[in-house]
Amino acid sequence: MDLKDKIRSIEDYPQKGVIFRDITTLLKDAEGLKDAVDAITASLADVSFDLVLSPESRGFIFGMPVAYNMGKGFVPVRKAGKLPAETISKEYELEYGTATIEIHKDAIKPGQKVVIVDDLMATGGTAKAIMEMVEEMGAEVVASAFLIELDFLNGRKALPDCRVEAVIHYE
Ligand code: IMP
Repeated sequence: MDLKDKIRSIEDYPQKGVIFRDITTLLKDAEGLKDAVDAITASLADVSFDLVLSPESRGFIFGMPVAYNMGKGFVPVRKAGKLPAETISKEYELEYGTATIEIHKDAIKPGQKVVIVDDLMATGGTAKAIMEMVEEMGAEVVASAFLIELDFLNGRKALPDCRVEAVIHYE
């Protein structure tokens, strides 16, 4: 069975006209989970970097095992108010609504190379907001890797100077 066939599509969620790609059906499948994590890991095999950054909460599901596989550290990007130490924060537009995300100020050192891992790229707004925060911290996003890319939303345009990897595409 193809990896894509393990993703469930739900029409009109979270709002009318949107087809939500639900990864929970892939996650509960032992082979699907392994293949998904391995495919994201493989897409970054030739990238030299120090840290994986992922936004909560579905990003954590893939970012942490990819970091573990590749022998790198993991930095959580969280919704406003969740991180206990000093943070930098950014408000950005979502495919549906707006959000504010935060990173611990001391999580990334100037000059470090980071990779963003998330479950899905839609408009690219989340990855772009993370990239801007990383740059404000004097570090660099050298690649971003997603399990799923919604090609028709042209998210790559939001990340013009960044290598973008995606395992599964919806046109
Ligand atoms: P973007 O910022 O527009 O690229 O949206 C990406 C974020 O929205 C990711 O963190 C996803 O988890 C979430 N997202 C948007 N659409 C979907 C979907 O169809 N399935 C699962 N997550 C989605």
